[in-house]
This record gives sequence, C-alpha cells and structure tokens, in this order.
Amino acid sequence: MPEWYGPYGGSFVPETLVPALKELDAAWRAAHRDRAFRSELQQLAREWGGRPTPLYFAENLSRELGGARIYLKREDLVHGGAHKFNNALGQGLLTRRLGKKRLIAETGAGQHGVATAMVGAKLGLSTEVYMGSVDMERQRPNVLRMRLLGATVRPVEQGSRTLKEAINEALRDWIANVTTTHYLLGSAVGPHPYPSMVCEFQSVIGREILRESRKLWGHPPDLVLACVGGGSNAIGTFHPLLSTHAKLVGVEAGGTGNEGDRGAASIGAGRPGILHGMRSYLLQDEEGQILPTESVAPGLDYAGVGPEHAYLKDSGRVEYTSVTDDEALRMFHRLARTEGILPALEPCHALAEAVRRAPTMRPDEIIVVTLSGRGDKDVEEVVRRGLPG
Ligand SMILES: *Cc1c(COP(=O)(O)O)cnc(C)c1O
Repeated sequence: MPEWYGPYGGSFVPETLVPALKELDAAWRAAHRDRAFRSELQQLAREWGGRPTPLYFAENLSRELGGARIYLKREDLVHGGAHKFNNALGQGLLTRRLGKKRLIAETGAGQHGVATAMVGAKLGLSTEVYMGSVDMERQRPNVLRMRLLGATVRPVEQGSRTLKEAINEALRDWIANVTTTHYLLGSAVGPHPYPSMVCEFQSVIGREILRESRKLWGHPPDLVLACVGGGSNAIGTFHPLLSTHAKLVGVEAGGTGNEGDRGAASIGAGRPGILHGMRSYLLQDEEGQILPTESVAPGLDYAGVGPEHAYLKDSGRVEYTSVTDDEALRMFHRLARTEGILPALEPCHALAEAVRRAPTMRPDEIIVVTLSGRGDKDVEEVVRRGLPG
C-alpha cells in the first residue's frame, strides 16, 4: 500500500489528523490480511450489492460502428446504481473494526452520499453527509434518498457551494470529532492511506474484468476505458490490468470544449500542486488558486485527481484524454436507443471515446468500457438540455 506514487500522493494534513490517519492505515493493513474481513466484504458485496457485475456485449452499438467489439462492465447494476458502493462498503466494515460509531462523507452528485447512507443504515452507524447547496439543488432525488436511508444531509454554503467545499467541511468536521468519527472519503484522492485503500476496494472491477475476459476470449481486452473524476472507478478498473498488454485510457470531462474552457480535466490541463491532503495534478492559476470547474457530469466536476493517475500519466502507462459535454450528452441518447440502457453522464465520457476508437480497430479486437453508474439521476438534466432530433 504505497504512500507515494513517484512525486505524487503523500499526506499533507494538520497535526490533529496524523494519529487518525496512522490508525486507519494500520487497521486497513490488518483488515486486508484478515480472511474473516475479506470474506464478510465478499459476502455482502455478493448478496447485498449484486456482485459480480456482468461484462455485457453491446452488440447493437458494436455493429453500428463496425470495428472492435465493445463490452460494458456493468457497475450501473451494483446496489445504489454506481461503483461507489464498492468503496463505501469496504470503509464501512473498517469503521466497525475501528470501533467508531459515526460516519461522515462528502458528496457531489450524491451517489457517494447515497452509498454511504446505505452502508450506515446496514451497519448501524450514524451518518452525516456534506453536500454543496448548489449540488443539493441539482441532485434533489439523491438528497431524498439519503434522508430516507436515515442520513443527515448538511448543506455547504461556502465558495462555489459544490464538491470542493463539501470536502473542506468534511475535513473540518473530522478534525473536531476524530476520536469518534470515520471520514468515508468517496474517491481515490486525499491523504495516505485513502488513495491506495480506495484503489484496493475498487479493484474488484478490474479483477472481475480480467477473470471474465480469460473465460470469454482467453486473454485480457485490447483497449480498456473509464471516466476520471477523482479517479476511483478508473483506478479500480486499470490497477489489476497494469501488468497486461491492455491499452488503458482515462477520460476526463472536457466541459463546453470552448477555447480557454478547461472543463474539469485536471490531468489534461492542470499542474502538480497540493489539495485535500495530497500532491497531484490540479486545475490552478499562476498563484496556485484552485480554478472553478464545470461539467455536465457532476461526478467529474473536481479540480484534482487521484495521485496514482498523476503517476500513470507521467510514466505513460495510461493515456488520458477528454470528451466534451455535448459528446457525452449525445452518447447518453445513443446508448439509450441502441442498447436500452440509460447510462450516467460520467461514463458517457468514456463511452464516447470508445465510439471514436472502435471503427479504427479490427473486428477481432475487444474494447471494455466501465459503465460506472446508471443514468436515473441525470434524466432531468438530459431532458432539460433537449432531446436529439
Ligand atoms: C462519482 C462518480 C464518478 C466519478 O468518480 P471517480 O472517483 O472518478 O470514479 C463516475 N461515475 C459515476 C457514476 C459516479 O457516481
């Protein structure tokens, strides 16, 4: 469980959090080696969460494009509707092991808040979720879901009133209540041990892809794509495939695509700096002030990215690119009409890149795209932006 990925990662936190992060790191290492912990995690993931998820052949879409065969890793079918469940369950079980009774979390689109609220209810932990008031407005159904699951949603009114400020408030709460509370961070970001721990909990995605590919074709896929917000579904997809020949591509949010608009492409348009306890690529100005981000996909709307992605970008093992809001929206409609699936707007970014590349590949080549979540939460936004002609 590395703390550093080349020059990225680390643990840049106030003194008060150091003991809690050390305690978490030790508990996590012990749990990871403990067969009883792993087997409880697997059993709940299977029976409560619906794992393993299928690797689904998007036959109609592949035929339309004429090229490589496209398969979808169906994380949209996980309990709660997104991959966030995998990490929330793992950290929830760890919280019980730590003897803590209270969970706090941040959420942007609300998917991580919902996953945390589900886990809090199941494990009998009191749960409070920080959410920017702008996001509460945009993602109202998820606010209601969290409340119905027994969680308290705390509106955040600072700054841009979105994800970055929600993380700041959760960190502030954690500093004040660190002995009783676990901070259930929702992506592969933040101080050590969060990035490596979240990567491990999400690596179930890549391990299942690898196992299923061996069964279906006898070798790993040729091209694997995932969308990158903080980077947890992407790192969980990529990590188990790093030592294979598979080409790996992370897709960031390109925003409007207008000249000068960086969207939320921290790797594509950012520089190394420090935010939320980690050193990584960040969208920042000359003075190091974090820049506002904008994406049609609220789950990708973050100015930073997990430190392992920063390292994989520099090393060249993973290629990073971006897709615009309009391309993602068109992809939403296309998948709905061809495959009968409403995808979340986040993985529409990865799907759109797969659609660009498939026609340039041979029919015997295989593409896998991680479909990180379902699109129910985005239906109103997509309709508001207009149906295609
Ligand atoms: C939160 C979210 C993302 C982005 O988060 P990562 O940590 O980058 O995976 C992507 N897709 C969906 C459906 C999400 O809910």
